[in-house]
Amino acid sequence: MIIILKQNAKLESIKNLKATMIARGLTIHESIGDFTGIIGLIGDTSKIDMATVASMECVSDVKRVSEPYKAANRKFNPLDTIVNVAGRKVGEGFFSVMAGPCSVESEEQIIEVATRAKAAGATILRGGAYKPRSSPYAFQGLKGDGIELLLKAKAATGLPIVTEITSIANIDLYSDVDIIQVGARNMQNFDLLYELGHSDKTILLKRGLSSTIEEWLMSVEYILSGGNNNVILCERGIRTYENATRNTLDISAVPIIKRLTHLPIIIEPSHATGKTWLVEPLAKAAIAAGADGLMIEVHNNPSCALCDGAQSITPDDFDKIMVEVKRRVQFEGKILS
Ligand code: PEP
Ligand code: MN
Repeated sequence: MIIILKQNAKLESIKNLKATMIARGLTIHESIGDFTGIIGLIGDTSKIDMATVASMECVSDVKRVSEPYKAANRKFNPLDTIVNVAGRKVGEGFFSVMAGPCSVESEEQIIEVATRAKAAGATILRGGAYKPRSSPYAFQGLKGDGIELLLKAKAATGLPIVTEITSIANIDLYSDVDIIQVGARNMQNFDLLYELGHSDKTILLKRGLSSTIEEWLMSVEYILSGGNNNVILCERGIRTYENATRNTLDISAVPIIKRLTHLPIIIEPSHATGKTWLVEPLAKAAIAAGADGLMIEVHNNPSCALCDGAQSITPDDFDKIMVEVKRRVQFEGKILS
């Protein structure tokens, strides 16, 4: 349920309203802008009489929210959320480019890619340390050592870092990581989401391989309901019958997520397509559709990559793509941040 406050509502009256709702066992979610004030109620509101609430002095309107996601719902929070990542902004006019290898492989590799990515205009360095692989025989990542190497690349370039978590047991290793990625395979790892909701880390939540948008938003809700509002969504392609690409990029997810929620969404054309030549056109499509950023896999030697070489572009190609990206981001009136 959402309660829309009168513009000139008195503070005392709002306080009374909130106290009444808290006494009924509900959690309050407040969104007070310059011109609108909204109180969102989370919990069992079935016994709340809408007419009684509507008659309260400070109340302009009362509406039930039928969607099962509440804190993520734009009705609860009409203004776009801007997520702060080590001083860089993501969302509402601030465009982020996260680039780097699928996996961290060595110090030389990650420093070289980070340096080239930064020079081309990337704003955040990506790199997998804990890798969820379909095969137990495939390279599983450098794990804790990989995080150490990412931190070295962060120190060398000043770029914030994003890396995936696969188990909450390793959370202590992520204390200097700027964004914790929850990968597609863990989108419905509810224990992990619950714990991350009780942390103060920024979370990049990728869409599950076969998840609907509503399932994705319910996973977001696990994080937000724990009190952590720093969430960025990432559309990385979903499974369909089409096999010309590794996955099918659901570009419509961008305007849909923007309509349904207040959170930033980025597009990842690398996993979405599995093909280097499709990265540029889909990056352009993402910007045109209103995405708040991109994640792109870049490797200094893709043919020797230990993971996802076929979709990883070279630093030279990344330079070229970034020229186009910057031009289009500027055309949209956004700032690369
Ligand atoms: C990755 O970012 O390297 C990764 C494994 O992504 P996804 O979860 O989208 O497959
Ligand atoms: Mn990958």
